Amino acid sequence: MHSLLPNNSSQLLIGGKLVAGGNGVFETVNPATEEVIGTAANANGADMDTAIAAARTAFDNTDWSRDHAFRAHCIDQLRTALQARVEELRAITVAEAGAPIMLTSGPQLEGPIADLDFAARLAESYKWETDLGVASPMGIATHRSLRREAVGVVGAITPWNFPHQINFAKLGFALAAGNTVVLKPAPDTPWCAAAVGSIIAEHTDIPPGVINIVTSDDHGLGAQLTSDPRVDMVTFTGSTATGRAVMANAATTVKKTFLELGGKSAFLVLDDADLAKAVGFAGFSVCVHAGQGCALNTRLVVPRARYDEAVQIAAATLGGITPGDPTNPGTICGPLISDRQRARVERYLQIARDEGGRIVVGGGRPADKDRGFFIDPTVIADIDNTATVAREEIFGPVLSVIAHDGDDDAIRIANDSPYGLSGEVWSNDPDRIRHVTDRVRTGTIAVNGGIWYSADAPFGGYKQSGIGREMGVAGFEEYLETKLVATSQ
Ligand code: NAD
Repeated sequence: MHSLLPNNSSQLLIGGKLVAGGNGVFETVNPATEEVIGTAANANGADMDTAIAAARTAFDNTDWSRDHAFRAHCIDQLRTALQARVEELRAITVAEAGAPIMLTSGPQLEGPIADLDFAARLAESYKWETDLGVASPMGIATHRSLRREAVGVVGAITPWNFPHQINFAKLGFALAAGNTVVLKPAPDTPWCAAAVGSIIAEHTDIPPGVINIVTSDDHGLGAQLTSDPRVDMVTFTGSTATGRAVMANAATTVKKTFLELGGKSAFLVLDDADLAKAVGFAGFSVCVHAGQGCALNTRLVVPRARYDEAVQIAAATLGGITPGDPTNPGTICGPLISDRQRARVERYLQIARDEGGRIVVGGGRPADKDRGFFIDPTVIADIDNTATVAREEIFGPVLSVIAHDGDDDAIRIANDSPYGLSGEVWSNDPDRIRHVTDRVRTGTIAVNGGIWYSADAPFGGYKQSGIGREMGVAGFEEYLETKLVATSQ
């Protein structure tokens, strides 16, 4: 199917070589057709051990962390090589992640590849050293120099929903900062990572061991990576539940831990906003990639006086979106990643019914499809913010509509969540917008349809949505240590 993956099977990248997995192979499945599209190398604990050793050696025994220009060259080379194979990568992404092809020209593939340029330029232009001048603490004249340097070996663990965006956001910035990396991608999307591994091995000067890519169907390899004393830092994107396990594991060796976790973001419509426009936008957005986005606004919070009208508009919007074949350029809502994920969404829909919620549109599998892990876009009404579906992340095309009693009540609802990832507010009044954006406790917040996603813009969460920021200068600095050198004069 792909020359990047000979015989429809992928390999591990360890110590600069493409190798087989110690546990043989595992199958990767097209979620739109339920067909097995091929196999991926299934690493075992010994493979992970070798990968960590390779990353350690590359960090400790080469000049990688100090040669900023060479790193920029390597990242540029990787970007160019990825761009040259973009059609193969696109086919893999659509087939394996079920990503609508429309999104692969943006955040599902080409956007994150292009964003590697921002990381490379940071490696070149970052101020690695700051002169703090001379001071005389304790009467000893001392010249102080503040240096920023790489943390060391980074263990990167990623989910399946936006595999390239998340893999490249971690790889690009960690490498630009001078680290070496062991990447363990999600078991549902091994090819998206392994195809990149084959490009790195065959088309770049990235030295052996600087990037290692270890695919496996065993989550335990992630746990191994987070507890190994040779790993200095863990960068993790995934669910909050797994994030807690990662943090606990990393604590045993006091690793720097960077977490991008789940969300339950709120879309606040104030009473002066154009309700039809706002609700239509919110409804459409929640169906993108079948709702499998951590920062999607899955709680629609509307003025109580116009609640019924808002529910009707939401129902018309989501009812008009048909989940479909992700290879079709018109599809925005493809399948869920797996049968397991669909069962999880269906479980939440049942909980909504049991708790007295009203399914206004959707609520199950599309009648016209007997293959693929599809679910109909769904609107849940007649609930408040205490409902389970308003509190927990569903990760499907499901919008819960909640009434508010004014701006402060809308803010209260937005913040009444264990999460704090993202959000949105619609209003025509700059003062009211400022009042809301000052008080909503989230890492990003959009206003009237603004887009916060960009290579130079840090992304991440408050509260149980994570620790730290990805992308932007702040994201780059997550991968740096600070060293002060004090020289007596
Ligand atoms: P997940 O937490 O189940 O798995 C994520 C990764 O962690 C996988 O690679 C998995 O193999 C690994 N893993 C599992 N158990 C582990 C352990 N004990 N130790 C170390 N690694 C372990 O998440 P998922 O289902 O793949 O992805 C969906 C979740 O990711 C959602 O909750 C979503 O909100 C979140 N997400 C967050 C962001 C963000 O930036 N905040 C972005 C995308 C997805």
